[in-house]
Amino acid sequence: MKEFDILIIGSGISSMAAARILNKFGHSKIGILEQHSVPGGFLHCFKRFGHRFETGAHYIGSINRGEPFHQLLNYLDVYHEEDYIDMDDAPDDHYFEDHEYTFSLGYEENIKKLGHLFPLEKESIREYFEMVEKAAHSFPTYYFKKDYDQQKMLEYIDKTVEEVVENLFKSPKLKEILYSNSILYGVAPKDASFGFHSIVQDSYIISSKGFRFGGERLARRFVQKIEEAGGEFFFNHKVQELVIENKEITKVICQNGEIFQAKKVISGIHPKLLFDMISKNDVRKSFQKRLDQIKESNSFFGACIVLKENPGLSPLKNYYFHSSSDFDDPEEKKKQKCFPFFLTSSQRDYKEGKFPVLITSNCAFSEFNALDKKSQDYKDLKEKYFKEVLEAIEKRIPGFIESIDRYTLSSPLTNQRYVPSPTGSSYGIYHDTSCTGARGLGPRTHFHNLILTGQNTLFPGLLGGSISAIKSAGQIIGTKDILKQLSEYEVME
Ligand SMILES: Cc1cc2nc3c(=O)[nH]c(=O)nc-3n(C[C@H](O)[C@H](O)[C@H](O)COP(=O)(O)OP(=O)(O)OC[C@H]3O[C@@H](n4cnc5c(N)ncnc54)[C@H](O)[C@@H]3O)c2cc1C
Repeated sequence: MKEFDILIIGSGISSMAAARILNKFGHSKIGILEQHSVPGGFLHCFKRFGHRFETGAHYIGSINRGEPFHQLLNYLDVYHEEDYIDMDDAPDDHYFEDHEYTFSLGYEENIKKLGHLFPLEKESIREYFEMVEKAAHSFPTYYFKKDYDQQKMLEYIDKTVEEVVENLFKSPKLKEILYSNSILYGVAPKDASFGFHSIVQDSYIISSKGFRFGGERLARRFVQKIEEAGGEFFFNHKVQELVIENKEITKVICQNGEIFQAKKVISGIHPKLLFDMISKNDVRKSFQKRLDQIKESNSFFGACIVLKENPGLSPLKNYYFHSSSDFDDPEEKKKQKCFPFFLTSSQRDYKEGKFPVLITSNCAFSEFNALDKKSQDYKDLKEKYFKEVLEAIEKRIPGFIESIDRYTLSSPLTNQRYVPSPTGSSYGIYHDTSCTGARGLGPRTHFHNLILTGQNTLFPGLLGGSISAIKSAGQIIGTKDILKQLSEYEVME
């Protein structure tokens, strides 16, 4: 049996950020259990046909000096300028059925561009972006403030994106543009919290960088710092059971038979999977009921493609292809037109010749889950999704299909294996207004020494996961003290 002061389950960005915050406050005897052979969760990369592909780290925002994500990573001693590459000044190209829009960096730039396209709604456009900025600044764990107006913050959390947009705008095309960023967190505008939407929108408006060497570089930076501080990683250690005595986790048992103990246990894995590892007699019924009622975000299908040559795409942009059914019930997806978006971080090292592209697209988990992974039907289903995706792309980028050299496809079952979640979902639980920010699951549990962290407890994204770590580590050392250090850190530099 191995003993630690603090045991962390999973090595996603939230788990490792929590470990680093705890290091900062003198906690060093930390053990991290990871089921995969590599660290990082969605930060990890993989190779296909000799090219590096990302899982879930394509680009990040608020990452210039003095901005929140930069400040946080810098404070955790894992920010290195050379790991990042500036995206294009207009990084996000959105294609709709009959129009398109490219989001640019800078509030004024977008106000100007959209005002030009929709002159009758100029004033509302300005009002909307001012609201986004104000809402984003109201969150103390985003712009790191010790003092804040809880009431204001809750107002922004409880309002939906749809309420705000429908109230301000008339043009269906403009609404479609303003809704399109929901793709970055996978919640329909009718369910998404305006406050949380504003954090995501603000972060990508103020700056935007890609990972020059993939998200795996950041994961390795974390591992190095945590190990230097005295922490220990255990890869290929899949946790399968938590033993409870007197409302405390007394043992954490891995699939390989190894047993761990700690005064505190932080879990960065999907909470539904975690609570399945605890005897049902020990889990509070009301909590289990809440968990059971929470929906999952969309499951996703992936395609790693190598093109014979670049068909004119910028490696410093992301491309999104929308259909009108983007965020409808994923299980209904099979009856509807599928939408793809593809991101190009794997081409950052592209010079010339073969051009790798990664596509991810919504799909129905139940369709894949009903099939044997080795069967022809399973292969055919992946091909069916791929065909729909390609047809949508070909309309915008003629010659795309012709230029495919090689490809490999993945399904939610593949994702379930590498970054487990109940349905191979892209952003974990479905973060509607009842499951986000202050209304989210949060870090506290009814077991004295069990703390939750990760995208499922607060909101998704690398930024969301990292911010959740502040709240989780805060259960041990005090959130206000962390925010104080953080807010003063950039000044001290
Ligand atoms: C296709 C896609 C694209 C994305 N693109 C972006 C992007 O461009 N920018 C951005 O900011 N965000 C993006 N995201 C979201 C972002 O990657 C995630 O929100 C974030 O990485 C989640 O971090 P986490 O720490 O909460 O969890 P995870 O990264 O899921 O980490 C959980 C860890 O726990 C481990 N684990 C699970 N079960 C066990 C077990 N039983 N025992 C031990 N270990 C276990 C897993 O292997 C994993 O390492 C994307 C996501 C997807 C799916």
